[in-house]
Amino acid sequence: MYDYLVVGAGLYGAVFARCAADDGKKVLVIDKRDHIGGNCYTESIEGINVHKYGAHIFHTNDREVWEFVNRYADFNRYTNSPVANYKGELYSLPFNMYTFNKMWGVITPDEARMRIEEQRREAGITEPHNLEEQAISLVGKDIYDKLIKGYTMKQWGRPCSELPASIIKRLPVRFTYDNNYFNALYQGIPMGGYTKLFEKLLDGIEVRLGTDYSKLKEEAGQIAAKVVYTGALDEFFGYELGHLEYRTVRFETETLDTPNYQGNAVINYTDEETPYTRIIEHKFFEFGTSDKTVISREYSYEWKIGDEPFYPVNDTKNGELYAKYEDKAKSTGIIFGGRLADYKYYDMDVTVRKALDMYREVSAAV
Ligand code: UDP
Repeated sequence: MYDYLVVGAGLYGAVFARCAADDGKKVLVIDKRDHIGGNCYTESIEGINVHKYGAHIFHTNDREVWEFVNRYADFNRYTNSPVANYKGELYSLPFNMYTFNKMWGVITPDEARMRIEEQRREAGITEPHNLEEQAISLVGKDIYDKLIKGYTMKQWGRPCSELPASIIKRLPVRFTYDNNYFNALYQGIPMGGYTKLFEKLLDGIEVRLGTDYSKLKEEAGQIAAKVVYTGALDEFFGYELGHLEYRTVRFETETLDTPNYQGNAVINYTDEETPYTRIIEHKFFEFGTSDKTVISREYSYEWKIGDEPFYPVNDTKNGELYAKYEDKAKSTGIIFGGRLADYKYYDMDVTVRKALDMYREVSAAV
């Protein structure tokens, strides 16, 4: 009999399991995949740590979270500065003075602000109600048209007018010449890849891979005193109230016989016609210098049952359905957490924070 059965060896599950194990609890972690690390998983190809489920860049303002993850890996000084490619025109991201200068030829922050304000007024937006209006009021119509509209349509499969403003608020808008994508005090990539970090996190904890919770469900009460479930909530309930919407992502990964394919870790293709959203060149996350390179083209799709859910579609309709599942979850006695179970667009640091807090809460309640 275990104290905790943790379903899912991704970030939330692994952090929760670590806290419990450090607290002297007996923990079993299961995952239906054949590897640990969830979507953070990296695999070495030609000595390059390939982010198999897309780019993961750790960034946080939360000192405790940063200190926690640094116990399990050394982080390098990688700073994310993606480049946007709009039909061969290159722009700096996040939106900053380099972007404004390239778009309009403006030099000073005041000039840039005036351009944006002019375009916001022309569009007649006072209070933004959706992603389109939010984007135009933050950066103006030209940047919206070239750098946001097509990319967002590809990533979310919906026009910006049907998406919540919150999605675009993730990105900083800066009136300085600063290409750092994140407003974070701490940022980096675990040296040697994320999988190594997870191996350390789960060190000494029993992990069973290729193990599906749905097959253990009936006996879960005999296996552990408490279950922690990090999968999707609608799947947990067999989609009995209908399924939530997610976006899924497919990667086309190639090893190339060149040391440098695109000159940056991340290039976003922001036009609507290019079928992929971005190309990741993995070696640059760790300043790799080998003769070869590995790239992944990222394609975004509407999720259907059986696919891997990546991004929750946090609109009103899904929010209402999620609330019904959440209601059902309350009577199960199970702890739910993580991006999938919470149906929230969490970054990695928030996921770690949630897991640390949850363990504190449940251990204090005993
Ligand atoms: N986005 C955009 N153009 C870009 C990059 C991002 O319009 O070149 C928008 C898009 O709507 C996206 C959102 O900003 O969904 C958040 O981007 P982020 O980079 O945070 O997405 P993630 O890396 O989590 O996929």
